[in-house]
Amino acid sequence: MDKANHETCRFRNALVTTNLLFTILVGCGGVPVYDEGPLCDKAATADWSKARMNPELDHVEFATWTTDPELEQRLLGYGLAVGPDYLGGNDVDDDGTVVSPYGKTLNAYELIVNTPGLEGWGDYLRQHSYPVHLSCGEKAPGIVAYTYFKWDQTDLFQSFYDRDVVSRAGFLIHEAGHAAGLPNHVNDQDRSWDDGGPYRLQLEFLAAVAYAPGLSQAHKDAAAEEFKWIMEGKFVEATGMTLEDFR
Ligand SMILES: [Zn+2]
Repeated sequence: MDKANHETCRFRNALVTTNLLFTILVGCGGVPVYDEGPLCDKAATADWSKARMNPELDHVEFATWTTDPELEQRLLGYGLAVGPDYLGGNDVDDDGTVVSPYGKTLNAYELIVNTPGLEGWGDYLRQHSYPVHLSCGEKAPGIVAYTYFKWDQTDLFQSFYDRDVVSRAGFLIHEAGHAAGLPNHVNDQDRSWDDGGPYRLQLEFLAAVAYAPGLSQAHKDAAAEEFKWIMEGKFVEATGMTLEDFR
């Protein structure tokens, strides 16, 4: 048992005065809960921060769900397992930038579901995604998201909300690929392009974003950068392909 999980168990035990045995079983035998770290401290004060990468893409002009409750409800049908008042809801800062973990996640869903040219990707999410839980903690430094096959659940961690909306959307697709049963990684890499793993799926999505009509140049640039990072680093057998090959 790792440190974070262990501390979570102690924390829960301290809070519970009845059904102690049941709580120990749930807290320590179920899905690990990571609820410590800088972002969890922010949760206490709602003093959220912009994404570190391309925060301008979280501007409310791209987040129409923030003023459209029906769209928000519709987006929640694509896999997110929490409600609108979780981890900051639709908190927006003085610059009009969506800053809460919940809001940044919904922005990613809106990009997938509402962008012309990405039809089909939203359907893929709805059909395959495990329930997606937001965590303010870290499973390990740099871990963006994790899918637990044992519990049919996907967790998003602090690094997820630091990344830009295009990257976040790509990781939602990647984790849905795990839930759909695509071949597993070898040390966080797909074995090869032909193996058809989650990174290949993520790259096909990012290429679709890069060439989607109607998206801003900043979105396309973000997709190109993310595509390059994954294509060059996430395959055991290098592919040699570039974004041009998907035009
Ligand atoms: Zn993965």
